[in-house]
Amino acid sequence: MLKNYLDNLPNKDGYYGKFGGSFIPPVLEEPFKDIIKAYEELKNSKDFIEELKYVRKHYQGRPTPISYAKNLSQYCGGAKIYLKREDLNHTGAHKLNHCMAEVILAKHLGKTKVIAETGAGQHGVALATAAAYFGLECEIHMGEVDVKKEYPNVVRMQILGAKIITVTHGLKTLKEAVDSAFESYIGQANTSLYCIGSVVGPHPFPMMVRDFQSIIGIESKEQFLEFDGKLPDNIVACVGGGSNAMGIFSAFIENKEVNLYCVEPLGKGSKLGEHAATLTYGQEGVMHGFNSIMLKDKKGEPAPVYSNASGIDYPSVGPEQAYLYSINRTKIGLCDDDEAIDAFYKLSKLEGIIPALESAHAVAYAMKLAKSLNKDKTILINLSGRGDKDIDFVVENYPM
Ligand SMILES: *Cc1c(COP(=O)(O)O)cnc(C)c1O
Repeated sequence: MLKNYLDNLPNKDGYYGKFGGSFIPPVLEEPFKDIIKAYEELKNSKDFIEELKYVRKHYQGRPTPISYAKNLSQYCGGAKIYLKREDLNHTGAHKLNHCMAEVILAKHLGKTKVIAETGAGQHGVALATAAAYFGLECEIHMGEVDVKKEYPNVVRMQILGAKIITVTHGLKTLKEAVDSAFESYIGQANTSLYCIGSVVGPHPFPMMVRDFQSIIGIESKEQFLEFDGKLPDNIVACVGGGSNAMGIFSAFIENKEVNLYCVEPLGKGSKLGEHAATLTYGQEGVMHGFNSIMLKDKKGEPAPVYSNASGIDYPSVGPEQAYLYSINRTKIGLCDDDEAIDAFYKLSKLEGIIPALESAHAVAYAMKLAKSLNKDKTILINLSGRGDKDIDFVVENYPM
């Protein structure tokens, strides 16, 4: 079933098993057909591949290294822990991997503007950066709560020339920001491209973002073999929408001996509203244009979610994440707020790397896993981003 996985999934309608698809208003059907057609052309175009390779090497800072976390491994006293350093991307997270490509796509489609939502502000900063580099306008929708919490990123986006739209309804976080960005896009689809921030949304976005992020896995496979002579036994990544996880997982899906862990945020606890552990507690449902697993309230609407990491408090996951979990190819790891904070400080003190709070969830789970495994086992963490954006929030709320 997993043979030639990436060639076979999604199917032509954007389905991974029963998950995915495209649930969009009729006015967007034509624009989405154009996007699918343009992507099919671009994907196989030598010029596109060359341009992407060029910006990744000479602007973005790829390949990113793999670091052996010797001190953290010794501290845990079990499996050896390695880090894929996506924190070293320009702008400090994996998001530029898809943003540079999405903006090239927008240019190819003749658009003058890109629109997106952002949670922690990382996708907004990455998209504003890509838009500046390629000379396009940029409009970013962000919940009021996140605007306050991630203020440095708001300023960054403004300096980069983006227009910020603060979303003040509902819980004022990522879910509302997605709704608002989508609304705005509907009104200007002929001149703009909606650049989604993860492997979510209607087809072809989950596929495109996975393909653009797959560079993480391709590099990791080669680098890890060089480091250790074999593939990692375990790969651990945090999952919000699931793009950094899909990026690293995609190269290893057919290697069934490699365990793939999705780390979900348990926030303050297991009650609805206290966490954003979608795969763990969710049910099948359609939201934001795709069918997947989602957290629902009593009325079947997207439930309120919470995590101290703004980039992963989303009440759904990408359809491919739902699919891989449904066929038991991936496993779940849970990590609550406090464990993430502990990992944030541990990685900083033991390795000299301040992780993003999102990535700290993956680190925390990997530490638990390492302790349960023998020294001959290995764990590769996808360190999705750096924590500079989080330091004020952390020291204020969780003093050293
Ligand atoms: C946005 C973000 C995430 C969550 O997004 P995914 O699509 O699940 O990868 C994780 N880590 C960092 C640093 C982020 O900025």
